[in-house]
Amino acid sequence: MENKHQHLLETINSEAKFTASYTGRKNFNPRVMNAMAEVDRENFVSSQYLPFAYDNGPLPIGYGQTISQPYIVALMTDLLDLTAESIVLEVGTGSGYQAAILSRLAKQVYSIERVKELAESAGERLKELGYDNIEIRNQDGYIGWQEKSPFDGIIVTAAANHIPPSLIEQLIPGGRMVIPIGLPHMYQELMLLTKDEDGTTHTESLLGVAFVPLITDEKNE
Ligand code: SAH
Repeated sequence: MENKHQHLLETINSEAKFTASYTGRKNFNPRVMNAMAEVDRENFVSSQYLPFAYDNGPLPIGYGQTISQPYIVALMTDLLDLTAESIVLEVGTGSGYQAAILSRLAKQVYSIERVKELAESAGERLKELGYDNIEIRNQDGYIGWQEKSPFDGIIVTAAANHIPPSLIEQLIPGGRMVIPIGLPHMYQELMLLTKDEDGTTHTESLLGVAFVPLITDEKNE
């Protein structure tokens, strides 16, 4: 592993400790940190951003979108409590980096991206890199992916002003969803939604975050 990559993992570990009082997670699961070590972020950024691939910050990926900050990727992944049997839905494929991390921890990853070009380039990239348990769809993820539901975990990597009801429906009893909720281009909170075995849901607000907006067709809302 490159030095910079090793350093990033250490930064994520110390940021986890700093934010533990908000997130409830002082240390991320070693399986999550192994996935963060295994997946090389340099493969998910364009050549002009290569020198910054292992910085702990978001980077532009075109179409006004960004690849998320690595600490946030690790945190959101950790909060899902995935097992090797989990079926996960991601809304907002972007570069495919978060999907690659999830694919190391779950059985199957379904990821939806509304920008056609990003869905295509992420699909090609993940295929070239040999990830074979990720399926990408070019669609508005606000309505989820009914045919592949229910999901053990749902991760939304764009900010909405409310939790999309279809996503709650498509979460299995006992499942977990992480989603940034708030005003576009302003303050948002990372929310954790859990669904009990009897279908009751609970939401918890964890910490302030900044995500690109979830863009949806009004007819879906
Ligand atoms: N997870 C990505 C980062 C995503 S940035 C990564 O690892 O690189 C958020 C992404 O959500 C953008 O690519 C944006 O186009 C997409 N997006 C926004 N609204 C969406 C929607 N309604 N459905 C699906 N994708 C959406």
